[in-house]
Amino acid sequence: MKTAHDLIQGGALRGQRVLVRSDLNVPLDSEGTITDDGRVRASVPTIKALSEAGARVVVCAHLGRPKGAPEARYSLAPVARRLGELLGTPVTFATDTVGESARSAVAGLGDGQVALLENLRFNPGETSKDDAVRGGFAGELATLADVFVSDGFGVVHRRQASVYDVALLLPHAVGGLVQTEVEVLRRLTESVERPYAVVLGGAKVSDKLGVIANLMQTADRLLIGGGMSFTFLAAQGHEVGKSLLEADQIDVVKGYLAQAEELGVEIILPTDIVVATAFSAEAEHSVVDAHSIPADRMGLDIGPESARAFAAKLADARTVFWNGPMGAFEMAPYAAGTLVVAQALAEATSKGALTVIGGGDSAAAVRQLGFEDSQFGHISTGGGASLEYLEGKALPGLTVLEG
Ligand code: ADP
Ligand code: MG
Repeated sequence: MKTAHDLIQGGALRGQRVLVRSDLNVPLDSEGTITDDGRVRASVPTIKALSEAGARVVVCAHLGRPKGAPEARYSLAPVARRLGELLGTPVTFATDTVGESARSAVAGLGDGQVALLENLRFNPGETSKDDAVRGGFAGELATLADVFVSDGFGVVHRRQASVYDVALLLPHAVGGLVQTEVEVLRRLTESVERPYAVVLGGAKVSDKLGVIANLMQTADRLLIGGGMSFTFLAAQGHEVGKSLLEADQIDVVKGYLAQAEELGVEIILPTDIVVATAFSAEAEHSVVDAHSIPADRMGLDIGPESARAFAAKLADARTVFWNGPMGAFEMAPYAAGTLVVAQALAEATSKGALTVIGGGDSAAAVRQLGFEDSQFGHISTGGGASLEYLEGKALPGLTVLEG
């Protein structure tokens, strides 16, 4: 697989138009202000290196889930400004993806200059399931460049026009961010230092249950909090009230519990839960036994006893992978479990453990709670992509770069 670094070393990039697929999918508040610019910062080194090599850099990315048509609230315009600030040089913003604005923005680039195209998902071709439709859009993107660099780790598990199809049409290379991400994740699948603990939580329960079967083959301990824990508690026969529950996954989870016992993998579930009357910071809330959640309450965080137990299971770990907040951390009354786990990871890191945080909300959580990126081994920019990698799945955006 050719790397962007190889291209730069080769010295032939000056004046070349390089299309870079980055992951700039950042959270925005209702005023359009970026609330966590981690993904923009993570994208800067590759863009900067290409620019310094004299390339005319055409960055493309998506934001949120628009339905194949322009929608002002998903515009990448605020991201173009932030990217310019971080690069220390203005970024030309094209107000479309492959139209008039994009063509003139690219034509106007001098050597070393950078343009950002509008949200790729404003075009239905980006995510189409129809190969021909996707290929058509990729063909239009390809006319804007001479070379393609794939650096959006958060999307490499997607067979999308700007991730997959465009690599079939242009000479291509893998960017430094994707390389780093894959190298770190490889250390979680090969020659892992033990004890290896995996912490899972968050709200995308059905997406994440699948990874458990695979993680049990390598991990020594599985700590389950967040929305996911209620399907486990239910599988053990407990009432979970109005908490997040994937009722149709209870049998699957029962299977996991049995498998864990056979493999000698420890599964640690919360023993106490912060419950509330509603999904709101103002709702009346209290701590209850995890095995007696009242029918009219919903669990919104792991309780203090559980948080202490989780921290203890992380204290001597040599390798930790964490995906998914322990509670609805965006609301202060339900942030304590996530905070304690983040502290435990930071401590493990300072004792030399390899700690990896994956997932957009998990990364945003640790930053919102006041941690620095440097307190952890690695904060992945891709949640779904990192989980699919750990599941052992082939990621289309990576395999296509091998060809
Ligand atoms: P990530 O983006 O890190 O992969 P997810 O998207 O799966 O994580 O989940 C993040 C969301 O999960 C957060 O917005 C948080 O509020 C929510 N969450 C965590 N625990 C609970 C819970 N017990 N009930 C409802 N939502 C929860
Ligand atoms: Mg998320």
